[in-house]
Amino acid sequence: MIKYDLHSHTKYSDGSLSAQALIALAIERGITHLAITDHDTVQAHLQLTENNKSYATEKINIIKGIELSSQWNNMGVHIVGLNIDIHSTAITAAVKHQTQLRIERVKTIAKKLLQRGFPDITQGAMILAGDGQVGRPHIAQHMVDEGLVSSVGQAFNKYLGAGKVGDISSVWPDLECVVEWINAAGGVAVLAHPSRYKMTRTKRRRLMADFSDAGGQAIEVCAGNQVPGVAEEMAAVCDEFGFHASVGSDFHNPDYKWVKLGQYPSLPKACRPVWELF
Ligand code: AMP
Ligand code: MN
Ligand code: MN
Ligand code: MN
Repeated sequence: MIKYDLHSHTKYSDGSLSAQALIALAIERGITHLAITDHDTVQAHLQLTENNKSYATEKINIIKGIELSSQWNNMGVHIVGLNIDIHSTAITAAVKHQTQLRIERVKTIAKKLLQRGFPDITQGAMILAGDGQVGRPHIAQHMVDEGLVSSVGQAFNKYLGAGKVGDISSVWPDLECVVEWINAAGGVAVLAHPSRYKMTRTKRRRLMADFSDAGGQAIEVCAGNQVPGVAEEMAAVCDEFGFHASVGSDFHNPDYKWVKLGQYPSLPKACRPVWELF
């Protein structure tokens, strides 16, 4: 039986597992094709290829991926790149650029929080991120650890989530630029979790049209923690724009009960799966 999960995270971004532990869990869960798609980094893939013998390639196919942060109409939009050449100049340059932006963004968010009377969160967030990409989840966790908020959820709801003071999407490159990086790296650009962006249907159609014009080839039709009906709705979007369909849990952490590795709604029959393009 073939089982895909084309969206997952390790500790090199905001996931909790090492690349090896993620792969072991994927094998345990019967996944045969796993894309590791950390936010703005391919460090997990670089580390895995360094220690080639440390994971069971005969049991699972690891697809090289990334989840790049972009902006569209002042809104943060995530684009997953699948089957990319991790050593390409495009990806190397992209990762370097995004790493710098992430470090600057933490400092900007820290300043905004200082103005709200919070202590400086920069160091704390950077320490939690370790040698991985720093992001809002690290800021949120640090705020919890310092007793500044009661939970990660509260940190997002009050300070870091969409439209709040710590939501700074304006730093990211445009959607078009990010799609171009993925295509230049020989990958397939996939619009991540389309139902998670808060926008009207009209606006979403414009996003889809712009993504297609930019060279985007697929959208995530089936994502983790997705409400019923969305897959069918996204299948219709694929039909309208000629997109292929991707599936992925967006797994971060085994403790998150709402998203399990390999778990997402089933792909509607009419969809052309994205792996036809690999
Ligand atoms: P960043 O990549 O730094 O912009 O942070 C975005 C990440 O934060 C997403 O990929 C999720 O993993 C996480 N996230 C977003 N919204 C929430 C939320 N409401 N509660 C917990 N985590 C969230
Ligand atoms: Mn994340
Ligand atoms: Mn995402
Ligand atoms: Mn993700």
